[in-house]
Amino acid sequence: MMKRPPSVNPYFEALYSAWGPQRWWPADSPFEIILGAFLTQNTAWTNVERAMANLHQAGCLSADGIRRTPLEELERLVRPAGYFRQKAARLKTFIAYLDTRYKGSLPRMFAQPTQQLRTELLELNGVGPETADSILLYAGQHEVFVVDTYTRRIFERHALIEPTATYEDIRLKVESDLRESASAPQADSPATPDRQLPNHAIAKLPDSSFEPGPGPAIEAPELTIPPIHAPSKMSKAKRSPLAQRFNEFHGLIVQVGKHHCLKQAPHCDGCPLALFLPAEGPRTLPQRPQKERKGEAEGRAKIKPARR
Ligand code: SF4
Repeated sequence: MMKRPPSVNPYFEALYSAWGPQRWWPADSPFEIILGAFLTQNTAWTNVERAMANLHQAGCLSADGIRRTPLEELERLVRPAGYFRQKAARLKTFIAYLDTRYKGSLPRMFAQPTQQLRTELLELNGVGPETADSILLYAGQHEVFVVDTYTRRIFERHALIEPTATYEDIRLKVESDLRESASAPQADSPATPDRQLPNHAIAKLPDSSFEPGPGPAIEAPELTIPPIHAPSKMSKAKRSPLAQRFNEFHGLIVQVGKHHCLKQAPHCDGCPLALFLPAEGPRTLPQRPQKERKGEAEGRAKIKPARR
């Protein structure tokens, strides 16, 4: 029987050792991140970029810009991101909430306790957990982990979670596991990926009781390093070490999901997480009815900033 790590800390350590900091999110202001979090729901980031370019050209990359733009015009501007009527309406709803509750001030909004603010955001039309947590973590620097479809897929293939695990189950597990970690990487610390990953990563594992599972043998695979975007004002924003850890882990998971752990089939060769595979290899993903996946799709990890 294989022995698996009891927490996701070793996963984070292995990925960070291999690929370094990911510099999320590529934006110049918290409001730009909020816009991206709404616009990226159920669409590819390339479409979001086109909508953002329209908003930029129209001078609407700010709360005031969205506030003063008529709904019909806003719909036209965000059209490339799809579901443009819903998304324009959701942005207007967010602004109305911001104005009513916080006099239009994002700093005032983000100064609220995390749980209170999270509850408020989740009550807004069109804001599900992934959108709320993206706003909290990336725009507000709150200590919240963003769960996306990649997270679930990777964790399921590694038997870290049950197929029935909810968004909250996964979020709380990651937050709890990473919180236990003694030290955290600093924002934009030098990325010096170690291509002899397995030994290097194992040496850094915080849990000394962990032994790699007897999964597929790994003989220092040639790791390819996914491209990352240049540092942005927001990637360099001040945040706690724990928020930085949540930030980096999410960014790293997206890289795994995009380059290795594809939906159709995992490409485990060269994946920094291959040393954690169960003995029998990746678990088969469960079939989910469309309805069940709906909540996950909202605002989801389609947070794939192509500018990274
Ligand atoms: S690609 Fe393979 S090793 Fe990498 S996360 Fe997916 S299942 Fe694990």
